[in-house]
Amino acid sequence: MTLINGKATATAIKAEIKQEVEHIIAQGGKRPHLAAILVGHDGGSETYVANKVRACEECGFQSTLLRYEDSITEAELLACVARLNADADIDGFIVQLPLPRHIDEQKVIEAIDPRKDVDGFHPINVGRMAIGLPAFVSATPKGILELLRRYDVKTSGAKCVILGRSNIVGKPMAQLMMQKDGGDATVTVCHSHSPQLKDECRQADIIIAAIGRPAFVTADMVKPGAVVIDVGTTRVADATRQRGWRLQGDVDFDNVAPLCSSITPVPGGVGPMTICMLMLNTLAAARHDYYE
Ligand code: NAP
Repeated sequence: MTLINGKATATAIKAEIKQEVEHIIAQGGKRPHLAAILVGHDGGSETYVANKVRACEECGFQSTLLRYEDSITEAELLACVARLNADADIDGFIVQLPLPRHIDEQKVIEAIDPRKDVDGFHPINVGRMAIGLPAFVSATPKGILELLRRYDVKTSGAKCVILGRSNIVGKPMAQLMMQKDGGDATVTVCHSHSPQLKDECRQADIIIAAIGRPAFVTADMVKPGAVVIDVGTTRVADATRQRGWRLQGDVDFDNVAPLCSSITPVPGGVGPMTICMLMLNTLAAARHDYYE
């Protein structure tokens, strides 16, 4: 059984990005610049944004963090997005989700210039990705495909079952895995109304679990030799940890891992790749890889 080490892979990719940035600077180019908008003081969002800023440092990027209180109005936030769209020094930016309830998230996402939408959430990027055009792709599915590639997992012709159909993970993952130039797999997507979910999983060569249900994927759902990718990250109480909790994936790792040909751990699997792909998207934005 191979343990797919997302942390080590992400470290290697960030080193590759840093080298590329040094090359750009040596050629007289501009340092890539990522901005992040953070609204409010949600603990999870604070951590994610801090990690993104740290990843920028590791990659040699410039970063700017714009903080606003929960009381910011939708109009004020949209004005901030418009300023970043117009700022030639900013190559790409993200608006950390979730936003306070009084702000329409979709409206904010659609206000972002698709050329700077390094989260890949704008409908133009989602649509371009779906038909195989160059586009910013949502970081988590992009990172999973990269992990599968770097670990030489054969995806072409494989039966891939994806659990979950969210806009940021399940749906784009399905698109990437089915595309000829992507996973080239036969893809089944299961969700909370899929009656044959267990049977589907048992037939899968590759299972990608993204539902946010701790230890949902059990050994009886996994075919011997399958590849299992665990996207889930749920905080579960754990009295043995000083902080009182630990991160639990969607897979019952201890019982599933012995069956697998390869599997990602939680933490240290998909998570570190996600921020790393945001960095790759920012580099692509700075180089105008997808748009003029
Ligand atoms: P989400 O928006 O809550 O979507 C969950 C999906 O799972 C939905 O499609 C839902 O079905 C399905 N689902 C829920 N319970 C189910 C069940 N019992 N059986 C079958 N399907 C079920 O979640 P998300 O944003 O995609 O995130 C999923 C998990 O991945 C979460 O734990 C999240 O924290 C984690 N995550 C991790 C990373 C990372 O970088 N590691 C990134 C993003 C997300 P319906 O559509 O029918 O409701």
